[in-house]
Amino acid sequence: MNDPRGTTAAPACGHHLTSAPVPVCEHLLTTTEPLYQYVHFTGDGTGQARVCQDCVPPTDVGPMVRVTPLCAPCADAATRGLLGTRGHPGPVERPRPTDPTVVRSPLPTALGPVTDLAPGGAAGGWLLLLTDGTLVRWHPGDEHWQELARTTVALPPDARTWGDMVPALRLHAGADGRYAAVVQDHVDEESLGQVLDLTTGAVTMSLSGGTYRTYTVPFSLAFTEHQGRTLLVHRTDWNRLDVSDPADGTLLTDRELDEDRSLDYFHGALHVSPDGRRIADDGWIWQPVGAPSLWSLHHWLTENPYESEDGPSRRDPLQPDYLWNRPMVWLDGERLALGGLGDDSAWLRPGALVLHVDDLAGALNTPLRLTAFAGPDGPFFAVDGLLYAATPEGLTVWDPTDGARLATVPGFHPTHHHRPAGELASLVDGALHRWTIN
Ligand SMILES: [Zn+2]
Ligand SMILES: [Zn+2]
Repeated sequence: MNDPRGTTAAPACGHHLTSAPVPVCEHLLTTTEPLYQYVHFTGDGTGQARVCQDCVPPTDVGPMVRVTPLCAPCADAATRGLLGTRGHPGPVERPRPTDPTVVRSPLPTALGPVTDLAPGGAAGGWLLLLTDGTLVRWHPGDEHWQELARTTVALPPDARTWGDMVPALRLHAGADGRYAAVVQDHVDEESLGQVLDLTTGAVTMSLSGGTYRTYTVPFSLAFTEHQGRTLLVHRTDWNRLDVSDPADGTLLTDRELDEDRSLDYFHGALHVSPDGRRIADDGWIWQPVGAPSLWSLHHWLTENPYESEDGPSRRDPLQPDYLWNRPMVWLDGERLALGGLGDDSAWLRPGALVLHVDDLAGALNTPLRLTAFAGPDGPFFAVDGLLYAATPEGLTVWDPTDGARLATVPGFHPTHHHRPAGELASLVDGALHRWTIN
């Protein structure tokens, strides 16, 4: 086995290096067409090589082929979609001082059971969905709460669980705290939802996500801010997304979808980049394979109502077997982190794939770059470019530029991120467990 690290070696392409060289197999070195690639971890920290289908060993313990360093742009030009990973990364620990204190804030006992929660946005506190459909705002530490609205959306009494796809009511809220949505995730019939104005209590929109294979995905929905307005992205069928004004339901993506334009794509969980310019969709296609896709929300809203179907900014970079509903978060406006290393849900290892969209102008018309590192698992969050992952052992903090673990908060498993409050939280036995990001 040769040394694939070679980080100081001159790239074979002869270009000046502006980032670490990327070791590639001989076929990627000489190809004139981009080839599908595997990432092969060298076992030395996050060191990895890119190899083609002919060079990848069938198992994790197979030997690494001879690789040669290229500059990152040349390696990107030689490679296309990722087919899988081999080998095991070595752990990289770079601990930094972190306050692990988790504050336990009991909910008022008179409130009763809570179905879901969401950050209260700029208006502060947390929004709680009670089992009778009441939506309240509550500030941790208070014995009192404020009733805001009431939804009639409930779970069907006979909703069935399919593997790890569990029917649930989900509460979403916009960043300004004015609008909320309550939707049915993973139900085995027409998936329904409502949008509520929390300042008036009015139901402003009734949502339907269609009827086809709705149990396979959560109800695709995300609030976003665009040019100073709060907008709602939501599914209106299994293969169609729309954008509406949550104030009155005005449709902003009116379009006809004929047979040629209709997608064979099951829209899934939606993730909007923090700058609101891009959106990622954790959907799937037959056979089934996961097919995370991303496109420019900005272009969709300003130029092309078909951007979510076949717009020039749309990218579908990966097709892992049976893998969707995965952890996913935008680290910033250009980098999307996806949970799980591997090309098949049956052979997945904890870790993060990071897609880099290198064009800063807004379109996605440059290749996506990919890095991967082992360790992160569970729900993902992002703050200041760092990845926070709620692994089984507790919350972990990662530097996605080199995959180093920076901190662990043992036993804390956050499910929600309150950006204005700067905290991660989860509901445990009638109390909100809160950790201030530090
Ligand atoms: Zn090769
Ligand atoms: Zn080069």
